[in-house]
Amino acid sequence: MLQPPVFGKVQAGMAHNELRKDYLLNRWVVIATERARRPTDFAKNKTEQPKTVNCPLCPGNEHVTPPAMLVYLPSEGGIRKDKEQGDFRSKNWLLRNIPNLYPAFSPPKDADDSKIMKSRNFGYAVGHHEVLVESPNHTDHPANMELGQLVLVVNAYKDRLRDLSQKPYVRYVQIFRNHGLEAGASLSHAHSQIVATPFIPPVVSDEMEASRNYHKEHGRCFFCDLIKQEAQTPRLILDGGHFTVFAPYASVHPLEFWIVPKRHTPNFLSLTKEETEAFAQTLKTTLKALKDLVNDPPYNFGIHLAINKDAQDSYHWHLEVYPKLAIWAGFEKSTGIYINTVTPETAAQELKKTIQQTPTD
Ligand SMILES: [Zn+2]
Ligand SMILES: [Zn+2]
Ligand SMILES: [Zn+2]
Repeated sequence: MLQPPVFGKVQAGMAHNELRKDYLLNRWVVIATERARRPTDFAKNKTEQPKTVNCPLCPGNEHVTPPAMLVYLPSEGGIRKDKEQGDFRSKNWLLRNIPNLYPAFSPPKDADDSKIMKSRNFGYAVGHHEVLVESPNHTDHPANMELGQLVLVVNAYKDRLRDLSQKPYVRYVQIFRNHGLEAGASLSHAHSQIVATPFIPPVVSDEMEASRNYHKEHGRCFFCDLIKQEAQTPRLILDGGHFTVFAPYASVHPLEFWIVPKRHTPNFLSLTKEETEAFAQTLKTTLKALKDLVNDPPYNFGIHLAINKDAQDSYHWHLEVYPKLAIWAGFEKSTGIYINTVTPETAAQELKKTIQQTPTD
């Protein structure tokens, strides 16, 4: 009898990876269980980033940035909010939100524009592009910043979302963070970015449409159902009082995780003080676990939310964290099918273990 060829211990053609589809998006990922890697395989010895000389976001250099549309200042018994104009720049600030010097989207060329902007055919990228300087301390990132400072950051997200979402030409506000040079952070000073766009970006609008269909069919919010379901799987990372954290079933990034509020709400404008603190704490705990597990890897995170009235019942805001541990190459770029070499189940278990081993503060 003819024997099948054997190469070492591995038989050719025997590898069967899992093919998974995203909950809502028409997006596929190959979970490469046959060449699965441990999360710690990605831990690199950090090459010391060159010290930024004269960081434009550090205190003392305010004059090289445009005037801030929002500044948080310490004040007796709380925070005082201010804005800068002309040559005036605040000192001793806790947080500043400034226009991006190289914006992807810019405000209307003249005031009249805002009235006629009912469609998205403006002929130019109208909107806003802002930089939120999260702390006066250059190295104060969410994983290691004081909880109180991170609460200020979340409150500033709220302030900017409230303001930007009221502009007639703004249909969406994307809040995101790039951490590390490889994840696109050209400045190492702790900062987030806020981009207001004149239409709902495709990934979000696809999620919205699928959730709307789910809501029509089941009479319930997809995300409300999802967090209950994922809490019963090995993909669960954290199930706190107000937020559930899990590695999504079809994660396209190794160690990807999502933070989803338990209370149904389309965006975070209605967060209570307690929920805001819980969100900041959840963000800090999970990003610290990622940092500890893989030696401070580059990552991006983005908040998905709805400000449009027609998505209030069916869409549910959440934050998605995308660690940058893999390189997307020819196959991913040409097909939109991704290969993830860390199973979401392994990712979740390792992150959960790291959180449990970390003393809370
Ligand atoms: Zn700095
Ligand atoms: Zn919901
Ligand atoms: Zn999403």
